[in-house]
Amino acid sequence: MTHRPRLTVLSGPSGVGKSTVVAHMRKEHPEAWLSVSATTRKPRPGEQHGVHYYFVEHDEFDKLIANGELLEWAEFAGNRYGTPRAAVMERLERGEPVLLEIDLQGARLVRQSMPDARLVFLAPPSWEELVRRLTGRGTEPPEVIERRLEAAKVELAAEPEFDVTLVNTSVQKVAHELLALMLDCSGEDSPS
Ligand code: 5GP
Repeated sequence: MTHRPRLTVLSGPSGVGKSTVVAHMRKEHPEAWLSVSATTRKPRPGEQHGVHYYFVEHDEFDKLIANGELLEWAEFAGNRYGTPRAAVMERLERGEPVLLEIDLQGARLVRQSMPDARLVFLAPPSWEELVRRLTGRGTEPPEVIERRLEAAKVELAAEPEFDVTLVNTSVQKVAHELLALMLDCSGEDSPS
């Protein structure tokens, strides 16, 4: 069996808990390398430039696209997000595992440009749970929540496009499964 470095892409519906799972995994395993994306979104309290994201202006993001510096990029909720290509390629060339945590559009683009990537879908334990998480913030008007739920239905239907599904029943469990997938470079697609 050939052992080749694998690019692992974690994606899934908005609100499913991708970033919580990744944060938990990296707290326990800081050596597990995660690509830092560029975004035009403004930092939230506590977010640091170069750690959570590279926060850039729109014209800077335009330049990253024009210079081919992004492996993929997508627009999400009015902001643009993209994966800087160089750092990812350097790691992969050194044979080190790489994790991307990106939206579904980005995952599809990675599938096209890097067919060897392993695409991991993070699914909610149930539709009711996703509804609870999406409405739980409690601050949005009903029509915004309605739009999010419609979007979530479409996003959930993307699951069959992915190589592996992890069900977010417990952050600890999924973080562990994700790490195992990252470190398994055998080319097999079974989760654990
Ligand atoms: P947030 O603004 O909540 O940090 O992220 C919003 C969405 O953008 C999440 O679904 C997150 O996975 C996605 N995202 C973060 N970085 C990237 C990226 O580099 N590319 C793409 N396509 N999506 C990203």
